[in-house]
Order: sequence, then C-alpha cells, then structure tokens
Amino acid sequence: MDNAATSQKPRAVLDAVFGYLTTGNANAGRGTYPWANRTTELIDEARHRLRRFISDISGMSGVHFTSGTTEGLRAVARDWLLPQLKPGDEILVPHADHSANLLPWEEAAALSGAVVRSLPYDAAHDYAFRDLSVGPRTRLIAATHVHHVYGNDMNVHRLRALAPDVPICLDAAQSFGHLPISVADLDVDFVVFSGHKAMALPGVGAIWSRNERGPEFRPGGWAGSPNTAGIVSLAAAMDWLDDAGLDRIETWNRTLGARLTDGLAAMPDYEVLGCQQSLAATSPVQQRHGIVAFRHREISSGDLGFILAAEGLLVRSDAHCQAVAGEKTSSVRVSVHAYNSPAEIDRLLEVLQRLSGMS
Ligand code: PMP
Repeated sequence: MDNAATSQKPRAVLDAVFGYLTTGNANAGRGTYPWANRTTELIDEARHRLRRFISDISGMSGVHFTSGTTEGLRAVARDWLLPQLKPGDEILVPHADHSANLLPWEEAAALSGAVVRSLPYDAAHDYAFRDLSVGPRTRLIAATHVHHVYGNDMNVHRLRALAPDVPICLDAAQSFGHLPISVADLDVDFVVFSGHKAMALPGVGAIWSRNERGPEFRPGGWAGSPNTAGIVSLAAAMDWLDDAGLDRIETWNRTLGARLTDGLAAMPDYEVLGCQQSLAATSPVQQRHGIVAFRHREISSGDLGFILAAEGLLVRSDAHCQAVAGEKTSSVRVSVHAYNSPAEIDRLLEVLQRLSGMS
C-alpha cells in the first residue's frame, strides 16, 4: 500500500528485462553487431511506444529518457527554461507540492532574477483557479497531475483554459501508469515521469516535449550510455498497463481510495488530509486517485506506521518529501495500485478502528 513511493513489478516486466539481459544485452547507438543494433531499435521503439501510450499525434514531439521525474524536471528547468528567463519573469508552481517540482524552478529563478509564484490553493487544499492570474511575464506553469499526498487531480483542463498560451510542464509522477494521459487532450507542453511508480524498474523515466510553444527542448550535456534494461522494462510496463486497461486501473484505484476515506470518515479519531470535498467517489471536484493521507489525533504517524507494518500493512509515514508550504507534521499515506483489493482496505480499516478504540 505504498505505491506512490514505488510500485511492484509484474512478471511480464521482469521477464522482458531477464530476456533482454540474457539474450540481447548490448549498448545502444554503438557497435554494428546484431545485439547492438537490436538494442538501438528497442530504445527507438520504446520512444514510439511512449508516444502511443500518451496519445501523441503531433509528430513533432521529443522523447528523452531520464533516470526519473526528479532528473526530468531539473532538465526542463535547466536546459529549456533557464536560457529564456529574464529578471522579472514568472514561474507558477503548485502550492505544497513535492520538492522535486519546486527546487528546480526556484534554482532557475535564482540564477536569472525571475520569480516563483505559488498556484493558489484554498484552505481545503483544492486548487483555486478563480484566483489565478497569468500575466505577460508568466513563462511556465509547473503543474502536477496528481498530488503525492492529497491524491487530488489538478484539473489541467481548467488550467489550460485560463492560460492558453503559457507552456505547461506536467509532473506526471503519480498519474503516469495510473490513469490514461492524453497529451492531445490535456494540451500540455512537457510530461515528466518516473517508470518505477508505474510497474517498470527504478532508474528510468522520460521527458516528453511537445516542441510547439517556445523553443524546441534540447537536453544539455552528454547523454552517455542509456539505461537499456530500464527502458526495456518501461516498454514492457506500458504493454502490461495497456493490457490491463488504464481506465479500469483508474476506476479501481479511485474506488479503493473512496472506500478508505468513507471508512475513515466514520472514525472521529482520524483526520484525512487534503480537500474534504473530494473525499467521496461521487464528488464532482478534483477526485483523489487512490492516494489517501491521514493521521490519528493521538497516536503519532511514525508509531502508526510501525503498528500497521506489524499487521502486514505496508504504508508510508513521514512528511512525504513535501516542500516548505506542506503539512508541518507527518501523516500516514496509503496509496494503492491495480493489485490492491477491497479486502485489504477493509483489513486496514479494521486495524485502524481497533486503534481508535471504537470496536
Ligand atoms: N513528483 C511527484 C509528484 C512525486 O510523487 C515524486 C516521487 N515521490 C517525484 C516527483 C520524484 O520522483 P522520483 O523520486 O522518481 O524522481
């Protein structure tokens, strides 16, 4: 139940990696023998696979493999945004977001004299786009698709409607492989994600760049040898996720999350963090995607984490890499994926209820 940190790996992904490493391992873009050529092709195929996976029909996009979201966001900030920034320019970043989606933009601002402004949030942790002002100096909106603590969806459509011409960089760390992402539909300019939260191996991710608003994205530096096994795992993970059906996975995760929040709502000793309007499965506002953070009024979240682990319920309990404006005290975060079950949520609720002294 700690999938927002990293997912488990399906056998099909492990088999693809094992097969590649035992019967075709080589470096890409170097060498002329069959395994080397095949590896180069595999990487190219993975690029096309990713374009299909996120419904890219533009034909102008770039796909650059990275080690994950953190490196991807840094690369967009350093190699694409920074060279364009002038003193007084503005970057909008989500309030109380993951530090991986704050620090690179702050760094770019510090180096150029630009300013970072927080996307407005109301007290219940819902994005308050009515208060969003986008000006002529707004150079980038760093959006986050699904929040890693509150699980709410940022509603990129509304954001795009308010800022039709501003490039949007989407941190899809918690949405890639959890729900269908269509870049044709969302109209974003960058999608940055990690493979390891979406059934692939750790150490691989990608930056997809539309290359239509602003200059073409060209990652700086020297690329070196790619993470071939990681890229093979990512392609296999996308096959697995498509076979399972991202619509079904999204509904499944939401339903499990709603089952948990419904159960917690009946226990006054627990406080669920984030937007309260989006607790229920029927809520019209930005729904949670199977990520639920909560705390007990008396038992510390650290202790709660140990107690749950002793029951075989593996959750995360700390401050969740949240940047400065985030929660000041830690919480327990439950985050589900396709292989979690309603029975597991019920078992978790049973243990939590025992601790709340209600049963
Ligand atoms: N952004 C968000 C929203 C995340 O949840 C995470 C991972 N917790 C990251 C960025 C960073 O991802 P990674 O550690 O794989 O680089």
